[in-house]
Amino acid sequence: MNRILLKMFHALPSPARNTVATLRGLHLRRWRYGADSDRLTAEALERDSWSPAQWRAWQQDRLARMLHHAATQVPYYRAQWESRRRCGDRASWELLENWPILSKEPLRENPRAFVADGEDPRRLFHEHTSGTTGKSLDLWRRRDSLQAWYALCEARMRRWYGVSRNDRWGIFGGQLVTPRRQTQPPFWVWNAALRQLYMSSYHLSPEMAQSYLRAIRRYQLTYLVGYSSSLYALACAAKTSGTKLDLKVIVTNAEPLLPWQRAEIEAAFECPVRETYGLAEYVAAASECEHGTLHVWPEAGYIEISGGEIVGTGLLNPEMPLIRFATGDRGSLIENSVCPCGRDLPVLAAIEGRIDDLLHTPDGRTVGRLDPVFKTALPVVEAQIIQERISVLRVRYVPAAGFDERAARSIRERIRDRMGPVEIILEPVERIERGANGKFRAVICRIPAEERQRAALSR
Ligand SMILES: [Zn+2]
Repeated sequence: MNRILLKMFHALPSPARNTVATLRGLHLRRWRYGADSDRLTAEALERDSWSPAQWRAWQQDRLARMLHHAATQVPYYRAQWESRRRCGDRASWELLENWPILSKEPLRENPRAFVADGEDPRRLFHEHTSGTTGKSLDLWRRRDSLQAWYALCEARMRRWYGVSRNDRWGIFGGQLVTPRRQTQPPFWVWNAALRQLYMSSYHLSPEMAQSYLRAIRRYQLTYLVGYSSSLYALACAAKTSGTKLDLKVIVTNAEPLLPWQRAEIEAAFECPVRETYGLAEYVAAASECEHGTLHVWPEAGYIEISGGEIVGTGLLNPEMPLIRFATGDRGSLIENSVCPCGRDLPVLAAIEGRIDDLLHTPDGRTVGRLDPVFKTALPVVEAQIIQERISVLRVRYVPAAGFDERAARSIRERIRDRMGPVEIILEPVERIERGANGKFRAVICRIPAEERQRAALSR
């Protein structure tokens, strides 16, 4: 949503916000689900019992077709192979290892070059995402690709855990569903079309957390999905007040689930906590089974590990295929793993990357991710947010053409919407250095330890 629309949305009374959220939900539901959805979900669950040999054969077939399609029907790849041919390179595009690793830059610079011949972006579902690294991306999806993806989500993020999209559920995400300056509940909107209570992760202070717990009970939610850090904060509040909720499962996404977070959430809500991993780029996905094993979804993408980084090739979406896309997430595959759940899906060891530092607000909240700040188109190539002090944030950014005072103001406003009245230093740079592990860090917290303690005590 752009800033003007968001302001109009925030100005509405709460019931009207629910109506707007529901209308948006109807639109999303029409794209994500259709007459085939139940059948696709059932088929995904049937494939859970496939043998490793079946999966290999299936993936090799899909992969070969996708590589040929990309090399011949997708402008970016076609140009790349033509130029290699002109230089006398005879390597076959049928072998994945002959393809270069794709970084985010070419995708960001010219996303339409990745849209296959014959597809009209105006007729596709457009997604603008900051991805996992703070760099924004434009992605386009055909309806059948979206429905295939959401059928996998239904099977492996819900049915495995005994819930479905027809249950009432809650989510903590990066959307600013209530204005940051709002100090009284509701900090959520009810999206009736998706049966979803969308809760702001930005208002979840220790003082306000009890109102969230009451809302979860009042809306009779069956399960929760969201950032590990938000669910952890909620668990701490439930423990403090001794609140019991009747939840079947808690599903984490977008942030790695740390062992101490899992323990605290499980203890507070007395239900299983399951970690999931998925990318808006549709090149890799995985979810935990009841034995705590992180099973890969082979239909979504073909995963390789390159220098410790997860590299994925999308298998679902011929309209915008990404081949050997470097995710920026660190992980490793476990070969020949046998899981007691009986599923022979490949297994990922813990997701090691994306452990962005948490930011601390002057009023005692923690903010897990600030990358939605860059979600709506801004003339910024990439950006990193460094918290120097509780009340001082430095934004290091690589400006793109057209960066002006308005863009600078927009960054300041969006951060203050989430963090409150903090000082923001904007620092244009040529490049953002990578960390020791080669990983880009979207957020770095450098608050001196004493100051962090003082902030905790002053609550
Ligand atoms: Zn398993």
